[in-house]
Amino acid sequence: MMADILDSYAQAAGQDVVDHLRQLAKPLAGARVVHVNSTREGGGVAEILGKLIPLKRALGIDAGWEVITGGPGFYQLTKSLHNGLQGRAVPLPQHLLREYEQVNAENAELLRGVLQDADFVFIHDPQPAALLSHFPDRKGIWIWRCHIDAQRPHRPTWRYVRQWVTPYDASIFSLPEFAQPLPHRQFLVPPSIDPLSEKNIDLPEGEVAAVRQKHDLDPELPMILQVSRYDRFKDPLGVIAAYQLVAHHTPLQLVLAGGGASDDPEAEAVLSEVRVAAEGDPRVKVLLLPPDAHRTINALQRAADIVLQKSLREGFGLTVTEAMWKGKPVIGGDTGGIRLQVVQHYTGFLVRTPEGAALRVRYLLHRRDVLNMMGERAHRFVWENFLITRHLREYLAIMLGMRVGQTERIEVGFD
Ligand code: UDP
Repeated sequence: MMADILDSYAQAAGQDVVDHLRQLAKPLAGARVVHVNSTREGGGVAEILGKLIPLKRALGIDAGWEVITGGPGFYQLTKSLHNGLQGRAVPLPQHLLREYEQVNAENAELLRGVLQDADFVFIHDPQPAALLSHFPDRKGIWIWRCHIDAQRPHRPTWRYVRQWVTPYDASIFSLPEFAQPLPHRQFLVPPSIDPLSEKNIDLPEGEVAAVRQKHDLDPELPMILQVSRYDRFKDPLGVIAAYQLVAHHTPLQLVLAGGGASDDPEAEAVLSEVRVAAEGDPRVKVLLLPPDAHRTINALQRAADIVLQKSLREGFGLTVTEAMWKGKPVIGGDTGGIRLQVVQHYTGFLVRTPEGAALRVRYLLHRRDVLNMMGERAHRFVWENFLITRHLREYLAIMLGMRVGQTERIEVGFD
């Protein structure tokens, strides 16, 4: 079983990549590593931990995953911390701050046996950040992993989070712009996709055709796609405007695919605006998909000729990575993590306006040779930079690097 999982990744990511992981993991064999976050499912963090932990175990590392839990007040506050780190001015009432600290104190006691002697502890995001203050005699190295776009945090929120994060041995951010002034080592590790997940595995052509048919898409007509929550920062109206500009000259179809809006009143409003903008044009499909529609999204990304991600702000943009993995050039908003992935004129185009997006769509639809070449490069770019194996390699390298200073030298065997 252990060999199986590594063999599957060797097929997807390359044998040398997996060999390299084995070499890096050797000095860490038997090391007790614990990841802590606040949810077992839902969201990118849980998605990635669900894959990273079994991979680390397959490499001989004693990896575990713990989840802290609290009451409604705790989640209300941690949601505010999240929004505040992303720059929104949020209220931080004293009684909720005390509840946050109390929940961390209680979870510290529940997890004392696991965390006290662990060699490495990775604390994800602000929810469990205060755990460390309850381990004054900790044995291992504690690292805070921030997945949030903290480029311009709300100052009072950052001041509050900073007091918990400062005593860590190191922290990890996704992009250089998100890093913060902190008195310890900081590492940059962008997110990744799992090539073996339902969202990204190869699909039989028949399955892609079936999804096309189910959603009444014309197999003969060029198709552009944006997959996103219905959120203004994803600019779905800008995507429709770009499509309309192209449609004056070149026949094509647009698919906007996004998740349910039931628990988010703003998403519902955005979805209505999108529906109004798309009204009367049968070549624009606005799809509302269930949260587990991974294979459908996979098939739509494969069915598309070009994928758009015209965000006005974007932490990383996993949808960009997913599309590129499927060999699609991406026309993306010139912002955040999209800039890390869309290399201008190489894997796609960065744009700032619907007119800019329309210009690039027309160009690519008329230059199939360029479209195909960009798609191939995009796939290769993800293969080299944004697969989970690279993510794991960087975690291993950080663990080894943090041990230097503790044990003076490390030995990575090459055999
Ligand atoms: N996604 C999904 N269903 C949807 C919309 C998005 O499964 O209806 C997935 C998408 O494939 C990607 C993730 O949710 O894996 C979105 O991540 P991204 O970084 O692009 O944006 P975020 O939603 O985190 O701002």
